[in-house]
Amino acid sequence: MADDAAASKLIQGRTGPWEIVLGLEIHAQVASKSKLFSGAAVGFGAGPNEQVSLVDAAMPGMLPVINRYCVEQAVRAGLGLKAQINLVSKFDRKNYFYPDLPQGYQISQFKEPIVGEGQVLVERDDGSSFTVGIERLHLEQDAGKSIHDIDPNATYVDLNRAGTALMEIVSRPDMRCSEEAAAYVKKVRSILRYIGACDGDMEKGNLRADVNVSVRRPGAELGTRCEIKNVNSYRYIQQAIEYEARRQIEILEDGGKIDQETRLFDPGKLETRSMRSKEDAHDYRYFPDPDLLPLELEAAWVEQIRLSLPELPDDKKARLQSQYGLSVYDAGVLVIEGARADFFEKAAKGRDAKLVSNWTTNALLGRLAEGGLDIENSPIPPEDIAGLVELIETDVISSKIAKQVFDLMWAGEGTPKAVVEKHGLVQVTDTGALESVIDALLAANPDKAAAVKEKPQALGWFVGQVMKETQGKANPAAVNDILRARLS
Ligand code: MN
Repeated sequence: MADDAAASKLIQGRTGPWEIVLGLEIHAQVASKSKLFSGAAVGFGAGPNEQVSLVDAAMPGMLPVINRYCVEQAVRAGLGLKAQINLVSKFDRKNYFYPDLPQGYQISQFKEPIVGEGQVLVERDDGSSFTVGIERLHLEQDAGKSIHDIDPNATYVDLNRAGTALMEIVSRPDMRCSEEAAAYVKKVRSILRYIGACDGDMEKGNLRADVNVSVRRPGAELGTRCEIKNVNSYRYIQQAIEYEARRQIEILEDGGKIDQETRLFDPGKLETRSMRSKEDAHDYRYFPDPDLLPLELEAAWVEQIRLSLPELPDDKKARLQSQYGLSVYDAGVLVIEGARADFFEKAAKGRDAKLVSNWTTNALLGRLAEGGLDIENSPIPPEDIAGLVELIETDVISSKIAKQVFDLMWAGEGTPKAVVEKHGLVQVTDTGALESVIDALLAANPDKAAAVKEKPQALGWFVGQVMKETQGKANPAAVNDILRARLS
């Protein structure tokens, strides 16, 4: 498997080339029914403050109790990121004031996170790949939400999200362009979804990225970075990085220096704005949370979890390539979502796997994307893709007609067989019928027939004409055979 370092895509400034350096902190909400330290429910769409326990509201004297399920999900995620699982980890208080953080601190993990170093193999769009180092994954609480647009004079606070379990996944500064950053988030999301530790729903904010951007002259020391908070789509991640890198380059080329700060991306204006100067760790006055004991895991339990993991995207990709002869690219497209790979494997049973893969990745995924549908909700089931490929394999229809059949299947006209029968799309392989069409064409176009003897590629014109005459139903191989026999 190709495994290069990140590829630098230099930006040409007024005074020479610049390199972007990117590191990401992904906040992934643990797919848990209850919060990290309380029994309150977690869910989208509940009324304001309906999912708040006394612990989440930070009533005096309340004690946090760790949620075992969330710990297990963090371990699963860590294993999926090929990372070190720390059998002892600790919770710390990270002190800061937010109106929607009634505790006045966030329970997080600072010095001793539950997951240490790991690595993620990331695929680029062209099928090549590179490795991003994982520095750590730690568990922490989410804050609540301030709502500013209900009343012109007041801010409302909804604590439903307060105390929800997050996994913060910190990468090394291993990415060198915006596409690589987006591809990295895509891959981490894919792994977390396979494992079930996070649903990856970016629209709901269940997976979001803080993007650390700095620029430097190629090969120079790391520059000062700015952190763009809470970016929640691949497109925004790319746009935010593109803008921010150019902003920093302009400042440096004008002789200025970069202030380390936290910035916000405005998708409407496609720009980043300063939010606050960046705190250093000591500003938070981290200290061990006296209400929580160190988290101690048993090695055997971790091992049991490791054995229970499903086949992950990298392994599945390698298997699809070797078992079905798929290209690196097609296998990559299929495995990014477990459901896609499942669909493909169902459809490929006993069929030409490459054809099944083509129809799935090109025609079907294209249509699903246009319709904003997931493959789980595909109007065409895997059996019908298998049926379509069977009709092609057995020469009942040509690949060209298959496109028509697919469109009709998509339009809800039924199984491929039913569509072919109803619309009379069976391929003409009857040599006699094809011969009479061809002979008529040759007689009508003697000059073109003569040209083929000089230039064999000119045969294509006749093939096209036969297809036209037969409304695309002629078997192309048979047409070619007859034409060659007649014109040689
Ligand atoms: Mn965090």
